[in-house]
Amino acid sequence: MRGGSVAGPPLLVVGCGVAGLCTALAAAPRPVLLVGRGCRGEDSASALAQGGIAAALGTGDSVAAHVADTLAAGAWHNDPGRVQLLAEAAPGAVAWLEAQGVAFDRLGPALRLAREGGHRCARVLHAGGDASGARIVAALVDAAQRAPHIRWRGGVDVHGLQLRSGCVTGACLRGVDDEGAAPVDEWVEAAGVVLATGGIGALFARTTNPEGADGAGLALAMAAGAAVADLEFVQFHPTALDVPGHSLPLVTEALRGAGARLLDASGRPLMAGRHPQGDLAPRDVVARAVWQAGQEDGGARLDARGLDIEWARDFPTVLAHCLGHGIDPRTELVPVVPAAHFHMGGVATDALGRTGVPGLHAVGEVACTGVHGANRLASNSLLEGVVSGRRLGACLAKAAPPPVRAGASRRVLRGPGLDAAGLAHLRRLLSEAGGPVRTAAALEAALAETRALAGAGWQAELAVGILEAARRRPRSLGTHWLHEPLALART
Ligand SMILES: Cc1cc2nc3c(=O)[nH]c(=O)nc-3n(C[C@H](O)[C@H](O)[C@H](O)COP(=O)(O)OP(=O)(O)OC[C@H]3O[C@@H](n4cnc5c(N)ncnc54)[C@H](O)[C@@H]3O)c2cc1C
Repeated sequence: MRGGSVAGPPLLVVGCGVAGLCTALAAAPRPVLLVGRGCRGEDSASALAQGGIAAALGTGDSVAAHVADTLAAGAWHNDPGRVQLLAEAAPGAVAWLEAQGVAFDRLGPALRLAREGGHRCARVLHAGGDASGARIVAALVDAAQRAPHIRWRGGVDVHGLQLRSGCVTGACLRGVDDEGAAPVDEWVEAAGVVLATGGIGALFARTTNPEGADGAGLALAMAAGAAVADLEFVQFHPTALDVPGHSLPLVTEALRGAGARLLDASGRPLMAGRHPQGDLAPRDVVARAVWQAGQEDGGARLDARGLDIEWARDFPTVLAHCLGHGIDPRTELVPVVPAAHFHMGGVATDALGRTGVPGLHAVGEVACTGVHGANRLASNSLLEGVVSGRRLGACLAKAAPPPVRAGASRRVLRGPGLDAAGLAHLRRLLSEAGGPVRTAAALEAALAETRALAGAGWQAELAVGILEAARRRPRSLGTHWLHEPLALART
């Protein structure tokens, strides 16, 4: 813990990924208590981001083109006004990150721009090659640790909210440091609570997300009565490294941007004839092709052999992961599999992160602002975390302190979690029914089993919400891809 003295209840920011860090920094001079399960954001998805951050900075590129690509990737389910705001703010967000100490990769004086799926031109900035997320988080953590208005506590799970007269006025912090010891709960007063708790990938059997991306913040917001939106839209990354385990290493899309190609088990180009953008088609399209290859004929491989790249400079993370599993991507094909990667749905918010529950805000991946539509465009989520976090923080900095609320307080808790066996079972159910290709029969079966589990843990209650949302959407859209149209559900 560090920071200056705090007068009155601070603003509580939950989550030390890019969204939480940017919100906390921008909220100056309002006192902020920044909490997370990890200590320096090392457990966040933000720190794992490889590809980078999208901004229309290249010659011939434009905000309009960034907007058009975001809408096309999102299957036009996006909120166009919010997409416009995001793309317009991108160059300023990059300049601000540079001012925080992020050194983006350059070719001489010019920024180096890479291409990823769904982008029709090179638009993605990296820092340290594919170590972009780690570099960005490190710079923001340093800035937050220097900021006198921020007090920091790691090793904390937020699992309850306190409401007074319908307004969120505090939260329950549960220590997660002492393994084996009985958890210690501490209720703290707050001038407002910002959930920046990330996504839900860890609820699926195979994910690129860290283990802590379990939807805890989303579940808490739902318990407090916040509205949610688009829960059915879960993006699967087409190229996680196909090795045993739950949280799998990612093989960044930027490798395909640099010329790598997906092959089927017989060595034929997997994406040939499937989409005009081929290997760089939007993620949902490529993920379905890789999923199908896994169902039908021995899976997919990424061929990155012989590329004209400097592995140690441009892809040090992928190289280390592959070598660590005995695969040399410079000379061997890399086995890949789709894995749960990003949640487009979440706590419904307006452009300022307001949830509809007074005093409760959501920002970053846990929120659904409508910007990503039914399928996020690659490298738009770090961008969203920076842009939305800074906007929300600046707005909270100017807001008048909330009035002192009299009246009885009410406490809502996320509730107990599933045991290890229950969680493993739930992950299998969600993956089979809510994966890159869905069927009515699998959704019905998974819903029945998940509802039966719901009393046993909050993760199952959240999964019911996801599966019910999928069951309510009768036609394919973006990442919600149905084998056949569904009869409309009556739930
Ligand atoms: C492997 C990988 C690669 C990616 N690559 C890119 C990329 O190149 N470009 C891009 O734009 N996006 C990328 N993404 C997506 C992007 O990283 C995330 O969407 C984004 O970083 C989410 O940021 P966030 O701040 O909302 O959440 P996170 O970064 O996930 O941070 C969540 C924080 O909340 C904390 N937390 C959660 N629950 C609780 C709780 N109950 N109590 C206390 N703390 C809690 C966690 O400890 C963590 O600190 C990638 C994702 C992954 C997994």
